[in-house]
Amino acid sequence: MIIKEIAKKSPYFIQRPIRSIYGIIPYYKKLGKIFKNTYDFLGKSQYWNKEQLEQYQVEQLKNLLVHSYNNVPYYCKLFNECGFNVEKFKYLDDIDKIPFLTKDLVMKNTKDLMAKNFKKSDFIYSSTGGTTGKQMRFFTQKNFSASREWAFMITQWSRIGFDYKNSRRIILRNQVLPKGRLWIWDNCQRSLVVDTYHLTDENIKKIIDRLNYEKNPYIHTYPSAVAIICDYIKRTGYGLTYDLKGVLASSENIYVGQRELIESTLNTRMFSWYGHSEQCILAGECERSNKYHIFSEYGYTELIDNKGNVIRDNGIKGELVGTSFNNYVMPFIRYKTEDYACYSQDQNCKCGRNYKLLDSVEGRWLQEMIITSKGNKISITAMNMHSDIFDNVKNFQFYQDTPGVCIINIVKKSSYTVKDENVIYRELSKKLGNDVILKFNYVNNIERTKGGKYRFLIQKIKT
Ligand SMILES: [Zn+2]
Repeated sequence: MIIKEIAKKSPYFIQRPIRSIYGIIPYYKKLGKIFKNTYDFLGKSQYWNKEQLEQYQVEQLKNLLVHSYNNVPYYCKLFNECGFNVEKFKYLDDIDKIPFLTKDLVMKNTKDLMAKNFKKSDFIYSSTGGTTGKQMRFFTQKNFSASREWAFMITQWSRIGFDYKNSRRIILRNQVLPKGRLWIWDNCQRSLVVDTYHLTDENIKKIIDRLNYEKNPYIHTYPSAVAIICDYIKRTGYGLTYDLKGVLASSENIYVGQRELIESTLNTRMFSWYGHSEQCILAGECERSNKYHIFSEYGYTELIDNKGNVIRDNGIKGELVGTSFNNYVMPFIRYKTEDYACYSQDQNCKCGRNYKLLDSVEGRWLQEMIITSKGNKISITAMNMHSDIFDNVKNFQFYQDTPGVCIINIVKKSSYTVKDENVIYRELSKKLGNDVILKFNYVNNIERTKGGKYRFLIQKIKT
C-alpha cells in the first residue's frame, strides 16, 4: 500500500513511472491483507441476522470508545466532562450520552483529536471538499482506512456483478489529465480515466469512439458528469455499441427523472451510494431495489432531529450522524454529517440482508455546472479539491454570470497570503482549462440562499 499512497499524492508526471512499475503486479494482489480480510469478512457478515450485526457493533464501539478515552485527549476530556464511563458501555444507545462532533469542533481541536499511541507516519492527510464552503482537514489511518473502505466499496458494487479481479471501469470523475489528453489508461486502477473538464460535442464523440474500442463494462462517475454524455447521445443518436453492466454513481443528489434518463440512454442499471471522505457512514443501493443498505460493519449510524434527539422511527427525516470503525488515529464519534435521510417505512428487503434501509439521501451536493466560453459544461462536483490548497481560506464560493468566466469569492484567514492565491489559481486552472478564466474576489462573507443554505456555486446563467 505504500507505493499506492505515494502515487496518489504525487503530481501526475511523477505518478506515471510509479504507476507503470506498480502495474506489473496483478491488480488484486496489490490490494493487501486488510483489503482481503475485510472483503472476505463482508461476504459472510452481509447475511448476518440483526442480533449478530448488533453484537458486532457493540464490540467495535466498545474498542473504539476505550481506545479514544485512553489515547485521544479530546475524548478523554469530553467523556470526563459529560460523565460517560467507557467501561460501563454495554448497549448501542448508551452512546446517546456523548455530545456530537461537528466540523467546527474538528477544525478547532485537530491536534487533540489525534491519538497519542500512533506514530506520525501513521497519519495520512485528508480533507473534505468544499461542499460546505469551508474545507476541513483531518487524518486517516495509514494501511487501514483506505484499504478497508475499498473492500466495502467493491462489496457493494459486486451486487451488480462487479468483480474486483477482472472488471474494468471507465472513470469519469475529477482527475486532471495531462494537457491535450482526453483519456489515459490507469494500470493501477485498471481503468480508462476520461477527462471531465472539456466535454464539448467534438470531444464527447472521440470519447465515445474510445469507449466502444475499450468496451469497459462499468462507468464510475457522478450523475451530473454522465448526464452530459447522455444528453449528447440523446441529441445525436451517437452512442455506445456494446453492453454496459452498470453506472456506478455517487457524490451527488440524484434529481427526479435523472436515473431513468441515464438508465434508458445507456440501457443499464445505475447503482448509487452515500459515502463521504470522513468515512463514518457508507450506504449503498440494493440489487433488488433503489433503497440504501447502511453497512453495520463500517460504522455506527444514527439519525437525529434538529434538537439533537435520536430518531428511531421509520419515515422521519433527520441528520445523518456517524461513528467510524475505519479510523483509530483520529476517531470520529457521533459526527454530524450535515446530510439528511430517513429510514425506509419497510425495513424488510428481498435480498435477505438485515442492514438498516434508508430511502434516498439528501446530501449537500447539488448538481451545478460551470459554463465554458465554448458553451460546454463542467460539473461543479469535479471542481472539488481534496488537497491542502484551501487551508488558509475561511470560506469560499464559486460565482458565474458570464460563460467562460468564473469568479471565486474568498473569505481569507489571517494566515492567507499572495502565495495561497497563486496555488489556488494554479490548481483550479488545471481543471478549468483554457476556456474558463478564473477571477479572485475577496469578500467578508459568503452569500447564502433564502433558507440560509450554502451553495458551492451561484450560477446566474440560465441554461
Ligand atoms: Zn436488499
